[in-house]
Amino acid sequence: MPATAGPRLLLKRMHDIMVERISPQLRLDKIVQLIASNMVAEVCSIYLAKPGGWLELFATEGLNKAAVHKTRLKMGEGIVGDVALNGRPLNLSDAPAHPSFSYRPETGEDPYQSMLGVPILRGPRAVGVVAVQNRTHRHYGEEEVEALQTIAMVLAEMVVSGSLVDLGEIDAGPKRDRPWRGQGVPFCEGIAMGRAVLHEPRVKVEKLIADDVVVERQRLDAAIAELRDSLDAMLASEDTVITGETRDVLEAYRMFAHDRGWLTKLREAVASGLTAEAAVERVQNDTRARMARLIDPLIKERLHDLDDLANRLLRHLTGKADTSAHEALPADTLLFARTMGPAELLDYDRTKLRGLVLEEGSPTSHVAIVARALDIPVVGRIENVLEQVEAGDWVIADGDTAEIHIRPAHDVREAYRHKLALRAQRQAAFAAMRTQPSITKDGERVRLLMNAGLLADLPHLEETGAEGIGLFRTELHFMISSTMPRLKNLVDLYTAVLDGAAGKPVVFRTLDLGGDKVLPYARPLPEENPAMGWRAIRMTLDRPALLRYQIRALLKAATGRDIDLMFPMVAEVAEFRAARALVDRELERIAQMKADPPRKVRVGTMLEVPALAFQLPALLSSVDFISVGSNDLMQFFFASDRGNPRLGGRYDLLSPPMLNFLKGIVDASRARGVPVTLCGEMAGRPLEAMALIGLGFRSLSMAPASIGPVKQMLLALNTGKLASSMSDLYDRSEHSLREQLKQLAINERVPV
Ligand code: PEP
Ligand code: MG
Repeated sequence: MPATAGPRLLLKRMHDIMVERISPQLRLDKIVQLIASNMVAEVCSIYLAKPGGWLELFATEGLNKAAVHKTRLKMGEGIVGDVALNGRPLNLSDAPAHPSFSYRPETGEDPYQSMLGVPILRGPRAVGVVAVQNRTHRHYGEEEVEALQTIAMVLAEMVVSGSLVDLGEIDAGPKRDRPWRGQGVPFCEGIAMGRAVLHEPRVKVEKLIADDVVVERQRLDAAIAELRDSLDAMLASEDTVITGETRDVLEAYRMFAHDRGWLTKLREAVASGLTAEAAVERVQNDTRARMARLIDPLIKERLHDLDDLANRLLRHLTGKADTSAHEALPADTLLFARTMGPAELLDYDRTKLRGLVLEEGSPTSHVAIVARALDIPVVGRIENVLEQVEAGDWVIADGDTAEIHIRPAHDVREAYRHKLALRAQRQAAFAAMRTQPSITKDGERVRLLMNAGLLADLPHLEETGAEGIGLFRTELHFMISSTMPRLKNLVDLYTAVLDGAAGKPVVFRTLDLGGDKVLPYARPLPEENPAMGWRAIRMTLDRPALLRYQIRALLKAATGRDIDLMFPMVAEVAEFRAARALVDRELERIAQMKADPPRKVRVGTMLEVPALAFQLPALLSSVDFISVGSNDLMQFFFASDRGNPRLGGRYDLLSPPMLNFLKGIVDASRARGVPVTLCGEMAGRPLEAMALIGLGFRSLSMAPASIGPVKQMLLALNTGKLASSMSDLYDRSEHSLREQLKQLAINERVPV
């Protein structure tokens, strides 16, 4: 008999048994009989998982029938337990000699020497084991192992569908019907509540046994060809914004889609009598079982890719879309994905998107940057979350505590409803202040600006009532693009930003690359201290073509209107002058070409390297404005890495040396009449913002969500009183002035 005809015939007979009107036990008995005779084995037994980590003999042909529902093994115990625990077959010509062998006299298995045990897998977990035994020292051939695996897969479906046994009797794997709580890493703050949507929807394979093997083979081949074409198209597409990570994954997919080993396994599974979908699932089961056993993260990652690719192939076979982006979404959608690219997230209807939950990723990943711009909470790195969630489940994602609740109990839901209501009240209070001028109690105007970096940030200008964009981080767009953006693309983007700002000022910061801001399409240069390395203005002055090209795009976008440009990481006046000369050259070029120039160009600098503060007279006579970047300034001032959590609370911005330093900058700028803004994260924290206003700052730029709380604080502030109370603090020698400042706020009833 040809190797593949056996299982095909067997599958057909199994199908016949399934439709017979008989009791589940009799069905099981008939199935073991059928398998034994088909595989020319003297014994065939089925063990199924019971709650508590047991495997119980449910049916046997060849062993003592009296042992059925009596013989039990712990997961990992005996050969059967070993097969179940490790999720892989054991093919033994001398089973009693195997170290896992556990003798069970009641089964009467003494005479049998050889044994082939195969796990009945559901996802990565075994819900049982099917085993055949022979008296002789038989070595089961590869085709036989494959055939038994195919049978096991069909058995798995029968088991979990409840058609073989009562599901209450067995442990059929993780039930996605109980509350589940997971802990991850906060990527983006906020709370979201709603219904789960799987970014890559699962495909449920309904039909396992093929009616016509030839047709199934054709379907499989056609789907593989389609899959390859779609991957090629995605990788070749210039329009698709694919980041480096996504590109790497797609490249891996493409490699696997041409992998002969994988294709052979799929075709063999079809040849054994499975439908094309079932064949994909059958091979996928092996991958998952291998994944579960692996420790090496790199190999695991690749198997993960292979698993994803199998999902894609399944979707090609069933005609389902690759992602849920264009499906009908629930009004409150919480998106679940293993990982995703920024462009994929932007594909979703933003009016319905409430939150994002990722199994992997990092807070600095591009999708997190985009999610922040969209103002949706993100929780990342939650192990196995995709295994636990079902599309349509009720879910809560807490981006503040990085907790995620799937199918939460009533009281958890209520607690979160309460939390959300409080938040909404606060948001409503902030929204009500949106149009109120930001003037302190003693009549001082403080400009509140917002930080941005993507087009998606623009609506926040209107929502928050920010007076403009104090810092537009242009590198973000470069970071989320798959290839170096073209001039036209940049002109369009900057034009859209200026249009979106509708006359409110926008300060564009030129590319601040390097450090942790790497371009997916540039080769990273290994550096010992990237934060202090070849980054930002240093890189762009050494390679001026890039900076000129960006400046050209910015000036073109600003034709006929005002534009503010500034440079990052300037450490000396000479660097600023060199960068400004590039702007002047581009302006000359516009004049030579007789094109329309911007109405007004103001050129300023970030002040985030302490050295620049020691050249203030020269600097202030060269710039149109300065913007203090307290994030970097702090790290260089205290020599304390801004990204190192161990140093997180070590030094305080609200300390005498830092406040003195900032005061020197603000005093000098104001004396010279040069506008000064502070655009680091500290500007967005009410207590810190209060201290900055006390120092003399009258312009702050912050994350959009901070505008409300900061405005609420400053409306209650008396700047004259604050400045005089703070004057006593500068000479103190404490580690921090936080407590004293808090006390000042309490005394004056300033909400911080
Ligand atoms: C800063 O350093 O304070 C700043 C605003 O720039 P970034 O956070 O982009 O480095
Ligand atoms: Mg900086």
